[in-house]
Amino acid sequence: MTRRVLVTGGGTGIGRAIAHAFAAKGDQVVISGRRREPLEQAAKGTGLEIRPADVTDEAQVEALFDTPFDVVVANAGSGVAARIEDVELADWQQTLTVNMTGTFLTFRAALRAGMAPGGRLIAIASTASLQGGAHIPAYAASKHGVLGLVRSVALGVAKRQITCNAICPGFVDTEMAETAISGLMERHEMPREKALAMVVGGNPMQRLISPEEVAATAVFLASEGASSVNGHAMSVSGGEI
Ligand code: NAP
Repeated sequence: MTRRVLVTGGGTGIGRAIAHAFAAKGDQVVISGRRREPLEQAAKGTGLEIRPADVTDEAQVEALFDTPFDVVVANAGSGVAARIEDVELADWQQTLTVNMTGTFLTFRAALRAGMAPGGRLIAIASTASLQGGAHIPAYAASKHGVLGLVRSVALGVAKRQITCNAICPGFVDTEMAETAISGLMERHEMPREKALAMVVGGNPMQRLISPEEVAATAVFLASEGASSVNGHAMSVSGGEI
């Protein structure tokens, strides 16, 4: 059965891999994000539909759901690394707004549009939903919030045979991990290999996770076989947590 799938932040990194994985199964996939260029790059030769939107803008998010979706992946996210003493209020608010409010607006619009039984809501959360980090107080707070939202929505939609789950990846090989690596290089004046070793040090497998590994988890959570997996925080972290 062909399903309609929405992936926010679908132009890059994890979102792009998720969009490609669903498209490869024959699903009808819409990708969303603020910048048109990465969306066009991701869509090239794949049949993905592009719908630019900012997940922090209520009207833009609602407009994405003029036709209901069967699978909605709230993947758009951002974060900056800094100790709490150095976090500006604007950065704190921006992180909470994109990661937490963006997921809320996306899931709310998906349900208001009328998700059918068998529907799937999936949030790309983080291992930072399950543990803190000295350099990521805003990011970890926002991702813990995403998990609270997921667990609550899961209970609210269960009777309708819809599921809501979170995927909690460790460091994934994307632009976001690259920013963390270059941040360490700058702050500690260390070579790239050392910064990379620090970043992957938390993963017992001692490597970055691939976006495709996260995508495979999303495909599983959207499958028929995962019909009773609900309110779960699925760690994709090589055993980090
Ligand atoms: P990424 O390549 O930077 O992807 C982030 C995506 O979110 C971009 O496509 C970006 O597109 C979109 N986005 C950001 N703000 C947005 C907004 N206000 N409205 C709509 N779209 C927005 O990094 P990634 O690693 O793939 O991250 C994807 C998700 O995985 C995030 O939620 C992140 O927190 C989570 N995650 C990442 C890692 C990791 O190590 N990489 C680990 C755990 C969890 P535009 O800028 O064009 O809007």
